[in-house]
Amino acid sequence: MEKGELPIDFIHQMGNILDETELSEFISSVTSTASVTGIRFNPLKASGLNESGKPVPWTQRGFTLENRPNFTLDPSFHAGAYYVQDPSSMFVEWVAKKLLATTKKPFILDLAAAPGGKSTILAEIASEKNGFLLANEVIKSRVPILKQNLAKWGYANVFVSSFEVPVFSTLPPLFDLILLDAPCSGEGLFRKDVKARDEWSLEHVNHCASRQKRILSPIPALLKEGGYLIYSTCTYNTQENDDQIAWLCQTFSLEIVPMEVPPQWGIINTEKGGFQCFPHRVNGEGFYLAVLQKIGSKERNSLTEQEKRNVKVPRKKINFPDALSAFLKKDNQLVGVQDNSGNYYGVPEDLFEEFNLISQYLPFIDPILLLGASKGNDFIPEQELALSSYINEEVPHWELERHEALLYLKKEVSNSAPPNVGWGKMSYNGLSLGWYKAIGHRYNNYFPKHWRIMMPLPPSSHLPELPFSTRL
Ligand code: SAM
Repeated sequence: MEKGELPIDFIHQMGNILDETELSEFISSVTSTASVTGIRFNPLKASGLNESGKPVPWTQRGFTLENRPNFTLDPSFHAGAYYVQDPSSMFVEWVAKKLLATTKKPFILDLAAAPGGKSTILAEIASEKNGFLLANEVIKSRVPILKQNLAKWGYANVFVSSFEVPVFSTLPPLFDLILLDAPCSGEGLFRKDVKARDEWSLEHVNHCASRQKRILSPIPALLKEGGYLIYSTCTYNTQENDDQIAWLCQTFSLEIVPMEVPPQWGIINTEKGGFQCFPHRVNGEGFYLAVLQKIGSKERNSLTEQEKRNVKVPRKKINFPDALSAFLKKDNQLVGVQDNSGNYYGVPEDLFEEFNLISQYLPFIDPILLLGASKGNDFIPEQELALSSYINEEVPHWELERHEALLYLKKEVSNSAPPNVGWGKMSYNGLSLGWYKAIGHRYNNYFPKHWRIMMPLPPSSHLPELPFSTRL
């Protein structure tokens, strides 16, 4: 096989799934057309304006773009106005919204969350209903990008952990919805990522399928009765998809949930009741999703009386120091907690009990809203606070034009300095980018070093136009 060619075993496998005409449409779509670029706007930060793209049918916030712009050169991208996401993945929004339509205060767990695309969707859905999202990523090196993306999204109802899935077995059945967007053989990425074709083999598919079973096994016991599991992969083969669903239904008290997906969307119903996006049928990459519901109570179902009595309060409420309160909007309804290094976090008041409940089983979960730490009489605010909607309106802000904003995001010196002395936030199009501390005619740039733009910037006159605009 030549480098970058579709593996012959893969083509045979697809021949068992698609008829001859469709197979040739599929192959030509994977090998000869460009992959799709999708963006999903953040309802907290932008009403998506779309001048050249097409709406994604299953979400009001998603669009596909004709060409892929350089997102790094758009300050609103750094402010969290939108997430760059494959449209097929956005199908999770439609599904999760339907499943949780009547659930109050849902408890949601995203078990394989990094880099965080689907967590941003779940954070929104949870937040609309005062719910709680725990986003977990087992690979430690992927946790920072997960936290960064969730901080940019700006929702405070999100908590992040980094555990192997079996560790969750200590938890009682708490969750209304669990998403397992499983590590997989990546067939759905063959168009976008030619290298993925060379890494694919039938052995790898089998290896992924056994790993998925291992990850799936503890999940049913974590669901409330009636709770849902959304299982997804970016593959087409049956071992990683429908076979897993059949196995789950045979082994646990789970039942497939049928859903009426509008046929004009081009999403295919699979034999076992899952849904498949094929790139020649939808304007997106390959993606599989199935929904299962916990029916009986073969697994443990609620906290025992003993467990209820043992509920401790592992995370104590801390009063915010005045220097921190000055950054926070009045009536913020946040409860303060602190870690061992003295960092303050904000937890939405009406989720504090849930946070404490989970913290007794999983002591190391971090609220996403890191506020900062005291230093002498001063308080050093964190980037997560800058990106949230909890900032006091009286905190000065300095609006930058695009090139100046990019210089700030690159941590380079810009021409203008804010007029105030002391702390303030830099903003672009009304969206907060990060903190500065002004000292007379200059300021210190508090944009996080590890988030800064690394590429050289074109001069202001050569900045490429963006094919869409974002507005608050
Ligand atoms: N849900 C993410 C999103 O929408 O941005 C993408 C998740 S990606 C398909 C699969 C994730 O599974 C990766 O973040 C990977 O680190 C994680 N993973 C790898 N091995 C795992 C394991 N043994 N248990 C749980 N997660 C694992």
